[in-house]
Amino acid sequence: MISQHTLRSTVHTRGVGLHGGRKVNLTLRPAPVNTGILFRRVDLPEKPEFQVEPHRVTDTRMCSALEANGAKVATVEHLMSALAGLAVDNLLIELDGPEIPIMDGSSAPFVYLIQGVGLEAQAAPRRYMRVLRTVRVEDGDKWAEFRPYEGYRLAFHIDFDHPALQQSGNTLHLEFSRAEYIREISRARTFGFMRDVEYLRAHGLALGGTLDNAIVMDEFSVLNTEGLRYADEFVKHKVLDALGDLYLAGHPILAEFDAYKSGHGLNNQLLCALMDQPEAWEWASFTDKDPVPEVIRAGAATGVLER
Ligand SMILES: [Zn+2]
Repeated sequence: MISQHTLRSTVHTRGVGLHGGRKVNLTLRPAPVNTGILFRRVDLPEKPEFQVEPHRVTDTRMCSALEANGAKVATVEHLMSALAGLAVDNLLIELDGPEIPIMDGSSAPFVYLIQGVGLEAQAAPRRYMRVLRTVRVEDGDKWAEFRPYEGYRLAFHIDFDHPALQQSGNTLHLEFSRAEYIREISRARTFGFMRDVEYLRAHGLALGGTLDNAIVMDEFSVLNTEGLRYADEFVKHKVLDALGDLYLAGHPILAEFDAYKSGHGLNNQLLCALMDQPEAWEWASFTDKDPVPEVIRAGAATGVLER
């Protein structure tokens, strides 16, 4: 059986919000079977909580923000990406501010945090959303689509008119697995341009942004003295973001995802379009009598104690 997993014990970290620039405490707690991913704002009266759900995304300007039951949580995508990457199904995420800490701009700090305690198998099968027909959304020349595929495969294409980005790979194909995610995707950092920093700050965004949590470029090159972590770090970060945005479904997806110049907004539109077409997908799980394709097994946590 491919079973649901949660954390083996509670972990805690602290960091700065990218947009608000404030310190936030973040606690990840194990949660029972079929809880899904829950956010709880412990700084607000009555500590409101809500489950992740694509229609609860309210803001996709610079990050993915969710809002429900009087609580808003912004910049969820890198933590959600780590949960997708490690195949965590059930978790209670507590924070004492409006924004998930940016850490180093990638999902690797969350991956280390979770690997530190490991995952625990739970006594219920994982519930997958199996895509049955192509679903596509477009916005100008940008597009994103799901196609039926018995596994999880991602293709992402970017096209930036910038020398540093043009030297880097513009396309990435990924056959999703936990190992590939940890090794090839999780360390890719968010990126931005100096020319946008003034505008963002005037709008109260990116106040916590520094060269320690983003790749920053001027008109010609990367300003970070340490350079890039991967030759194609930019497109890898877009895949990292997409994995997090799509995991707001609350379940792993069996599909081929293909996107051109997509971002948080279009990723979310695609997910909402899928959820809104009941004939385009079905629930799937893998119990003991079902043969499990290797590409699906590699994307799931299968041991009793996974690290
Ligand atoms: Zn990102």
